[in-house]
Amino acid sequence: MRFAVLQLTGCAGCEVSLLNAGDELDLANLAYMPLVVTAHDVPEVDVLLVTGGIRTDEDLLKLRESASRVKKIIAVGTCAISGGVAGLGDRQDIREHFLASAHQGRVPRMLPKCSPIDTEVKVDNYLPGCPPVPSLYVKLLNDPASIKSTSIVCKECGRRKPKDIRPDTLADVVHKDEDPDLCLVKQGQLCVGTSTRNGCGAICPRAGFPCVGCRGPSNNLIEKDANAWFESIIRVFQRMTDIDSDTISEALKSPHLALFLFQFSDYTDTELDSRPKEKVL
Ligand code: SF4
Ligand code: SF4
Repeated sequence: MRFAVLQLTGCAGCEVSLLNAGDELDLANLAYMPLVVTAHDVPEVDVLLVTGGIRTDEDLLKLRESASRVKKIIAVGTCAISGGVAGLGDRQDIREHFLASAHQGRVPRMLPKCSPIDTEVKVDNYLPGCPPVPSLYVKLLNDPASIKSTSIVCKECGRRKPKDIRPDTLADVVHKDEDPDLCLVKQGQLCVGTSTRNGCGAICPRAGFPCVGCRGPSNNLIEKDANAWFESIIRVFQRMTDIDSDTISEALKSPHLALFLFQFSDYTDTELDSRPKEKVL
């Protein structure tokens, strides 16, 4: 299966993660990827992976041109699906800084608002993650049917959640945990693995760091509005801890959860429907 990677505005983390899959991918099938295989335009391929958001006029043009030459389009990573780091350019202070820059005029024109790629082209599947871990690319490109993300990160994490341990304060800082077998929520950490879709192997909590939800909402939340995810996390903390709900609510908006907040682009101008869960890998 010949595939190509079209990189719109993002951080290139999705591309680096794909390359980290190394020998498990047959890169001879990679027909186009500006980071490693240069070509002027996206050639005809079976599958086009699109990373990054539509941030500039160049992004928009490249995406529209490429879509007509490929059989299947997969939106990869938070930026292509939900805004991500590219969505930061919607902030007025960042726009003013960028537009005042001496480099203006020598870079693509920034659009007023960053958009996910399905506002412009039909997307066959979504592969969320910031970035998706290498093993997800291996499954996606070698055996897509093997991606079965019907559950939550906790299922892959497997830490214990004893009912009699109920922290009443949130840890001040994200730190490596004290007890490697105990759920991080039970150690007062803001782990959102309870409502985040699985598939990443729970790499963060297994290493002692809270999940920040980069795989996006789990299947039972994906077709609901963004608030449903926030509310579900707060309910989980009410069930598992004695930490005040307002504290959780406030902490969910803190900068260290930027990867979590990147999931919540403002789509009010796009009239975008929620993504059907069958299409989300
Ligand atoms: S540490 Fe996080 S991912 Fe692991 S069981 Fe607890 S809430 Fe779930
Ligand atoms: S554990 Fe959470 S933050 Fe870490 S890769 Fe998985 S979904 Fe993303």
